[in-house]
Amino acid sequence: MDAAHLWHPYAGPGATPEFVVTAARGARLWLADARGATHEVVDAMASWWCMVHGYQHPMLDAALTEQVSRFSHVMFGGLAHAPAAELAEQLVASAPPGLTRVFFADSGSVSVEVALKCAMQARQGRLRGSIRSPHRFVALRGGYHGDTSGAMSVTDPGGGFHAQFAGALPEQVFVPTPPMAAVTGGVVDVQTPVPEVAQWAAEVRDTVAAHADELAGIIFEPVLQGVGGMRPYPAECVRVLRTVADEFGLLLIADEIATGCGRTGQWCAVNHAGVTPDIMCVGKALTGGYMTMAAMLCTDEVAEAVAASQSGVLMHGPTFMANPLACAVAGASLRLLTNARWDLQVAGLERGLAAGLAPAARLPGVRQVRAFAGVGVIDCAEPVDVRAVTEAAVRHGVWVRPFRNLVYTMPPYVATPEDLAQLTAGMVAAVKEAVR
Ligand SMILES: *Cc1c(COP(=O)(O)O)cnc(C)c1O
Repeated sequence: MDAAHLWHPYAGPGATPEFVVTAARGARLWLADARGATHEVVDAMASWWCMVHGYQHPMLDAALTEQVSRFSHVMFGGLAHAPAAELAEQLVASAPPGLTRVFFADSGSVSVEVALKCAMQARQGRLRGSIRSPHRFVALRGGYHGDTSGAMSVTDPGGGFHAQFAGALPEQVFVPTPPMAAVTGGVVDVQTPVPEVAQWAAEVRDTVAAHADELAGIIFEPVLQGVGGMRPYPAECVRVLRTVADEFGLLLIADEIATGCGRTGQWCAVNHAGVTPDIMCVGKALTGGYMTMAAMLCTDEVAEAVAASQSGVLMHGPTFMANPLACAVAGASLRLLTNARWDLQVAGLERGLAAGLAPAARLPGVRQVRAFAGVGVIDCAEPVDVRAVTEAAVRHGVWVRPFRNLVYTMPPYVATPEDLAQLTAGMVAAVKEAVR
């Protein structure tokens, strides 16, 4: 039935996966293969980086069931509900100071669309009285912001995500990818600036200056470019973007969809730089991986500028906005992160990943091994054979899905030392067997 009817992500019709999930608990998945054999594996991907508390967490299960027993969904137009208000309060309390207003969206990509629209409206509101209505954005090479049209337009055009749609998308202004952060003893250090930052900063400023009249804002993934290569860069670059945005009156949009909720060792990755963006997107881990939901946060100043724009209202309103089930489980997930001390969990991940992945550095075909908080990367010299690496990893008890030249992991925060040992040993073994 899958082969006959379904599409999988970035796949052709009929590209049926090799494995069927039959059960999931904690940091582990049970996968059935085509021969009917079952494999118990540690989920190195945390289901595309969102399942931070693992599967079947009793508190998240309970939060959902409790909300189901009240109401599962109501429209958000003209109606309010407690799960949304409480979640907004939690998000504002934990966000960088000044981000006070929350818009709930159905997915990360949609929250980016809302952020772009919000920035365009705010820029127009700020320029009220002027006939100019700047609507282009500065984005970083190597960046990824989602798969909908606007989000795709600010994603690196070289990454293959929008080659097919050239001409159909708004043309944005791209600046070079920031220099890579220092890596010492296999561990990433985003605090020590690298010499190339000054040159990069000058290029960013020159490019922005050349286009300042057409621009609404700057969008970026703070400190870690995810889909673009799991590439960490110095916090100093985030401060550069803040300074340039201020100089030219542009809105600074931090896409924290992958980096939020502690994944990089700070609650928000902008905290590494001590920077408050004007607009911020969170998603992925927001609901503990249970449901699709994202949020856009902005400052009072931005909200007022939107109110001063032509339409006077933020022009967006999805059907499933602030879905109560998603809000309830996200609220429970945020409380759980605090109670479980996510900071200690993530610090533990970094230690386990650095130690466990280190042996891969000596393997042929491996360029660099690095651990950055909850992210571990075996960076290979050439693109890897995804199927071969995946199959080898499953044989060694790990679910991993490499892309391009990266065999990487973003484990659930609840991964135990035993889970981490199995995960890292399996990744190293898979690279040894399947990468040349
Ligand atoms: C995953 C991701 C998105 C898109 O989120 P979806 O929920 O998949 O739409 C946007 N930005 C970043 C940085 C991401 O990692």
